[in-house]
Amino acid sequence: MPRTTPPRPFDAASVFPELAGMSRTTTRLRPRPGAPTVRESSVGGPLLWPADEPWASCSQEHDAPFALKTPDEVRTLRRIHAQEVWTAEDHAEVSRINIGHDPSLLPEGPHPLIPVAQLWARDVPGLPFPEDTDLLQVLWCPFIDIEDRRGSEAVQLRWRRAGDVAEVLDAAPEPLYVGTDELVPVPCVLHPEQVREYPATHDLDPDLAARIDSREEDRDTGYRGALSVAPGWKTGGWAAPFTFRDSGGPEELRCARCSAVGEPLLTIAHAEWDAETDSRRPIEEAHDASTTPTKVTVGRGYSLQFYVCPIDPRHLPVTVMQ
Ligand SMILES: [Zn+2]
Ligand SMILES: [Zn+2]
Repeated sequence: MPRTTPPRPFDAASVFPELAGMSRTTTRLRPRPGAPTVRESSVGGPLLWPADEPWASCSQEHDAPFALKTPDEVRTLRRIHAQEVWTAEDHAEVSRINIGHDPSLLPEGPHPLIPVAQLWARDVPGLPFPEDTDLLQVLWCPFIDIEDRRGSEAVQLRWRRAGDVAEVLDAAPEPLYVGTDELVPVPCVLHPEQVREYPATHDLDPDLAARIDSREEDRDTGYRGALSVAPGWKTGGWAAPFTFRDSGGPEELRCARCSAVGEPLLTIAHAEWDAETDSRRPIEEAHDASTTPTKVTVGRGYSLQFYVCPIDPRHLPVTVMQ
């Protein structure tokens, strides 16, 4: 089933002529729980990974007092939480899992990363794939503070040419424990949809932003909610609306290798829409549909954006929480 954004309530450029030419295309990924294969784009799904290539791993130590859970326990918790009725055993199981395992059980040495997203070029037109590649894979380490680890091995991107993967790895290694289930995506298939979006008001000329603000009446049909940056998981488009980088400006988005200012590559969001952006809820989905299909939460509900170097997408992306 496709996911379709309803028509926009008004034309931004006819009300504010300065906005003409400022909209960008973004691909809303629309992850929804499912059983993706290695040949499909996905969130939290299996990756098309060469059998003869070492799996991505992280060797940082995670010695903070995490309530360690095994990946199977995370799946069990989610299965129980999805049930309307819990048995006494379910209650006991949830309590037991939530206590967590003793942190001293964490094995030393490198631990496998987990799949976050796999994007085939055919599903995300406009994503700047390096020449001769058609597949982007994103993996991370399922412990907190992902957002503070820019440039570290805790978040890794792989650009591939699918045709180069002769023999596919059939069982990806999993870490023995995860530090937080908030970084473990529910396996989701994608229903990509391309939409246009305008910049967040903090990225506009202050005078124009003030005029836009003074016109806002209803939150969900105004510029902020309906026309500026689209919510949810997506590629391309503009920088996310809520930001910690107001003081740093574009400096913070510069590529560490060549200093070019990064462009939004992938946005990982807590919610697919909220009260303010309800006009972007797909017409195929009801008011009470889940807004958090992936169950991923970065930094207590903000979003995580990867910025790619416009000179060479293989340069390490800049990661910003906002
Ligand atoms: Zn790690
Ligand atoms: Zn660069």
